[in-house]
Amino acid sequence: MSEQPWAVPAASSPTRVSVRAPGKINASFRVGPPRPDGYHYVASVYLAVSLYEEVTATAKPGTPPDDITVGIGPHSTLSAAALAGVPLDGSNLAVRAAALVAGISQGACGVHLEITKRVPIAGGMGGGSADAAAALVACEALWNTGLSREELSLLGSGLGADVPFALLGGAAVGLGVGDRLTPALAPDPLHWVLVQADYGLPTPAVYGKLDELRADRRPAEPRHVDPHILAALRAGNARDLAGTLGNDLQAAALALAPGLAGVLDAGRDLGALAAVVSGSGPTVAMLAADAGHAGALAAALADAGHNALTATGPVHGASIITK
Ligand code: ATP
Repeated sequence: MSEQPWAVPAASSPTRVSVRAPGKINASFRVGPPRPDGYHYVASVYLAVSLYEEVTATAKPGTPPDDITVGIGPHSTLSAAALAGVPLDGSNLAVRAAALVAGISQGACGVHLEITKRVPIAGGMGGGSADAAAALVACEALWNTGLSREELSLLGSGLGADVPFALLGGAAVGLGVGDRLTPALAPDPLHWVLVQADYGLPTPAVYGKLDELRADRRPAEPRHVDPHILAALRAGNARDLAGTLGNDLQAAALALAPGLAGVLDAGRDLGALAAVVSGSGPTVAMLAADAGHAGALAAALADAGHNALTATGPVHGASIITK
């Protein structure tokens, strides 16, 4: 009998699976007090937007399940300097996600993950979480584990608060640390312009700054989101939604990156319905009335020297694109 310690895929199993997962913006982000574990209580309205990460998982038959390698795909749209910030070792969130699936799968072998990065790194759009979500779905399909979306979500929540939302997609209210998700109805796509910075803001530093700015008071734990936001999303009414966008982290992001004030002003001056820092920043999300308005706004911002692109959202969560 030939010795084969690690799985060789059955003829019916795929040997390569590509999955895309969306970046997110926060239409609303209320932040409460820090918890003993360092995370903060939040009440957030997440929207998945059409700026996608892609992870292709390729089986390495005959290698052990802990042989997980990672590289950056040639179609990544971020600068070489930005991509240099992505760890290519066991700390990469996609590698950690694959390791979690391998750890509870009977038929796992080694795997190579190729990540096409489009979501700005440390940009407040949950790019690393999207990679983790894509890797969870890709490895589940590769090794045919039978894990449900809910089980993948539970696994992923240990990697980062935004992983469950990258799996779910669409629009959702996030409570707890943002991982207790309730889908929200948002049937019509909204049109956004995303202005990316050429630097990142480390999420812990932004929360730390917020705590410092609030040193003299302890905010209550936010337990719900403004119902007007949900009504505007349900109606697909961009103008109503514009009046409700808000982010408690924005003041902290501005304190750490004062140049963001100019980006927010430029958006408003050039006709955005509203502009808000996404999550911990520094990406700024601007709301437009329709696709034409978004295109014109992005062009005007680009003329003014900003790195602006259009996106729609809500869009679907992590989905297999080829198998
Ligand atoms: P969030 O909005 O969830 O706070 P973010 O968009 O600010 O996240 P990410 O780009 O997800 O930030 O990653 C933050 C840090 O995580 C990076 O600076 C990097 O060191 C580390 N990291 C680990 N894995 C990845 C990955 N696959 N892609 C990008 N960064 C990663």
